[in-house]
Amino acid sequence: MLRKIRLPREASTTCPGFRNGNGQIVVRDTGWPSGTFAGQRIYQLRCEHCAQVYGANGCDIHARLCPACQGGVPGEPLREAGPSLFD
Ligand SMILES: [Zn+2]
Repeated sequence: MLRKIRLPREASTTCPGFRNGNGQIVVRDTGWPSGTFAGQRIYQLRCEHCAQVYGANGCDIHARLCPACQGGVPGEPLREAGPSLFD
């Protein structure tokens, strides 16, 4: 018999591979702080419909709409490297 493991919502929606109900998939945690939601980090999301890649804060992931093909708000900036200690 399989046991269902219930994760806290925040942990599951920010896990790479999570797909929300709109087809937006979490690619990775960028490590950068969100510019729109204090205390959240920016996650890289990818749209399964048009392959758009963009940034979203952890609180928005579960309801995120693609900024390119679903009329969602513009994504947060994605940067290549993690935050520098010396910024
Ligand atoms: Zn899209």
